Amino acid sequence: MMKSMSTLLNPKRTVADLKDLRNLTADENGAQRVAFTKTWVKTRGWLREKLQALRVESHVDAAGNLWTTLRGESERALLIGGHMDSVPNGGWLDGCLNVLAGVEILRRINAEYKGKPPVTVRLVDWADEEGARFGKSLFGSSACSGTLNMEEARGLKDRDGIRLPEALKEVGVEFERVKESGKELKQAAAYLELHIEQGPVLLDLDLPLGAVLGTFGVERHAITFLGQAAHSGSTPMNRRKDAFLAAAKMSPEIYRIAERSNGGVCTIGSCTTAPGIVTSVVQECRITLDQRHLDAPALSRMLREAKEASERFAKEGNVNVSWNRLWQIEPVLFNPELVEMCSESIRETCGKVHRLPSGPLHDAAEVARAGVPTVMMFVQSLHGISHNKIEDTKEEHLEMCVTAFDKLADKAMKWVGREA
Ligand SMILES: [Zn+2]
Repeated sequence: MMKSMSTLLNPKRTVADLKDLRNLTADENGAQRVAFTKTWVKTRGWLREKLQALRVESHVDAAGNLWTTLRGESERALLIGGHMDSVPNGGWLDGCLNVLAGVEILRRINAEYKGKPPVTVRLVDWADEEGARFGKSLFGSSACSGTLNMEEARGLKDRDGIRLPEALKEVGVEFERVKESGKELKQAAAYLELHIEQGPVLLDLDLPLGAVLGTFGVERHAITFLGQAAHSGSTPMNRRKDAFLAAAKMSPEIYRIAERSNGGVCTIGSCTTAPGIVTSVVQECRITLDQRHLDAPALSRMLREAKEASERFAKEGNVNVSWNRLWQIEPVLFNPELVEMCSESIRETCGKVHRLPSGPLHDAAEVARAGVPTVMMFVQSLHGISHNKIEDTKEEHLEMCVTAFDKLADKAMKWVGREA
């Protein structure tokens, strides 16, 4: 009798793999798998060794992404992705949990279908998701999806003044050709990514797993209020043009805007004043505003409300205000059918499911932007913290997420096969 799916999958092996990886690539400060470094290259070697036991083909694409392919009856492919790179002093799960769960699922599929599944299954380890060295995240996946801004990326330098194209050359990647990696997505019919939540939502709900609806759109602006410097002793209160007063009123206002928005978040992350001395009324106050929402119209409404409020506060204080956009990205919604499959897989594994948006961006957003039906699954983060050596998830939750993610892979494979 053929062994069932559940006995072929061994989630404990994924936890053991994660611990092996930690022993190999972390020190007392945390994970050190920064992209394009020696430790990262060593990590890739370790990963490829693990995959050799399977009947798979592996190659590195034009952008440095590592693809492992288990060929099926159909060329249409189910993709599973993650990233082995980490930030310096990073956690032991961010990115590599996705890849190593994918390895276990490949093992299960390989065993269940004796090396020839009905559809092709591919595991991708994206290059430089974190952008820790050059300050540009999602490098490999945005090259592949085609959204990478070549001009901007060409000029990026690390702290030692080394340019991104030079660093890529060191690992055998030719910068000018990175977008050729886009051909890897030609037969892609679905993309799945598992990730630790990196936030406290599932923890606060006391739920191990969540289905991700999409990634937040972002509006990022600098707002400058311009008043007049004046002596702090000789200027009566009613004669002041105080740029700080107007800017400060924005702080409670963005909390009200976020609350009205039904699910959005707003952050004033910095505030600088000029002349910035203790004896002068503030002439110029510059704050930055970061606004995020899963719903595009709600995001533009949050932005409009913040603009209107800033103009009102400027008028009240007899100062001027100007806005300058720093960065913007549209929300990315995941595929509704895959979100449904993800929810079902979670329900079958642990009973309860919660659907939530992702605050951080992930490689999955790039794949979705390239037009491939995509979904992500989140597993609870202890402390709600990531990019830190204290990042952690309960071992029972790690095992549960491998099981649920495998169920999702099975459903998605059938879905991809049915459309073939
Ligand atoms: Zn990550």
